[in-house]
Amino acid sequence: MLDNLTQRLAKVVKTMRGEARLTEANTAEMLREVRMALLEADVALPAVREFIAKVKEKAMGEEVISSLTPGQALVGVVQREMAALMGADLGPEATQLSFAQQPPAIILMAGLQGVGKTTTVGKLAKYLKEEKKKKVLTVSADVYRPAAIAQLKTVSGQAGADFFPSTPQDKPVDIALAALDWAKKHYHDVLIVDTAGRLGIDEEMMKEIAAVHGAIKPIETLFVVDAMLGQDAINTAKAFNDALPLTGIVLTKLDGDSRGGAALSVRHVTGKPIKFAGVSEKLDGLEAFDPSRMASRVLGMGDIMALVEEARKGVDAKAAADLAAKVKSGGKFDMNDFKAQLGQMKKMGGMASLVDKLPAQFQQAAGGANMDQADKQVRRMVGIIDSMTPAERAKPDLIKANRKRRIAAGAGVQVQEVNRMLNQFEQMQTMMKKLSGGGMMKMMRAMKG
Ligand code: GDP
Repeated sequence: MLDNLTQRLAKVVKTMRGEARLTEANTAEMLREVRMALLEADVALPAVREFIAKVKEKAMGEEVISSLTPGQALVGVVQREMAALMGADLGPEATQLSFAQQPPAIILMAGLQGVGKTTTVGKLAKYLKEEKKKKVLTVSADVYRPAAIAQLKTVSGQAGADFFPSTPQDKPVDIALAALDWAKKHYHDVLIVDTAGRLGIDEEMMKEIAAVHGAIKPIETLFVVDAMLGQDAINTAKAFNDALPLTGIVLTKLDGDSRGGAALSVRHVTGKPIKFAGVSEKLDGLEAFDPSRMASRVLGMGDIMALVEEARKGVDAKAAADLAAKVKSGGKFDMNDFKAQLGQMKKMGGMASLVDKLPAQFQQAAGGANMDQADKQVRRMVGIIDSMTPAERAKPDLIKANRKRRIAAGAGVQVQEVNRMLNQFEQMQTMMKKLSGGGMMKMMRAMKG
């Protein structure tokens, strides 16, 4: 949905080189692009205006680190501000549920039909039971769709929560009060009340849920919204926010194609924190909302945090540090180092999974190359290195025509492939020299925001 923004940002990142500071003049064009793209993506105008003003204020005078272009620096500011707007400023507590209520703590769920409300009740019940060790009771006040009540019974069972039965003959307020009474008598810690949704905003529905709210006085009132909805999300959020004192938002279906632009608008319109994100149909597909990651996603910067985390997990930090020290002290990057690098790449989940997480502009540079193919290529390169003698690995300059033929035969490849591999090695050698100045770290830090 915000694909355009990604493209626009990528374009501007490439321009504006060689300036040391962000100024009104050199950021004006880029901010225009950001503004246009957000509007095209159905982000509400007031949200866009406020956002652009904030970015402008923060960007002015920002120094540009030597390894970055002003365009890249500005993308960093845009990412940080977007994260702030989506709740990074509120701190990690913003995603916590409150239980500060005479037990049971009541959670009321609100939202349109089909957004994933009932599924989210199941996910929350599972999370509360397993992570917070709470005894949970669920109930459905959806008297219009018997199937919805049956669905809640099923997911509650799967989540290991107790389920309070209701029938379409009952009134929503009576159902909620009866469940509350039951929960008190049976010492439940938490009661989650699912409500009826409609396909669109509906006066009757709003009155009904407001009445339920008034009767049971929940500590949490969560508005569930589908990330795939565009402008509709804004209007619905506004209507629910006016009718109910919402305490938080759950953004569902983030595993889909949506860039998540709805997060921006919904947060702006309601002023309420996004507490959770739904990331699959399964009951374990619920995550605490991460504004920083979401901002990167909206901007198409890929999941940089995940990349950094994975890199940390997968890569042998000592080997990397040894290599850096060696190159820095003027040591020569040889075939053994090259092989180690290829091995690290495999540990990080292969090229395909890496490229998925890279910023959009780099993905574009990768040009949609077939990444499975690339993984195979890596394996063949390791095979070629394995066919070299220790002397050849330490001093690849030794490898002339005769040796190339022997190595190719040993690895079961053509001589051309050995040549190509030697070329790639040389490129890597040159790159290692450049990176030894710490350029890579600077770049990663800047991207992290
Ligand atoms: P409700 O009408 O709001 O109660 O919506 P449901 O809970 O019945 O969900 C509607 C559909 O969305 C179902 O097919 C769910 O499996 C699906 N769904 C809910 N949450 C998610 C999510 O986070 N990701 C994906 N992919 N599907 C979801």
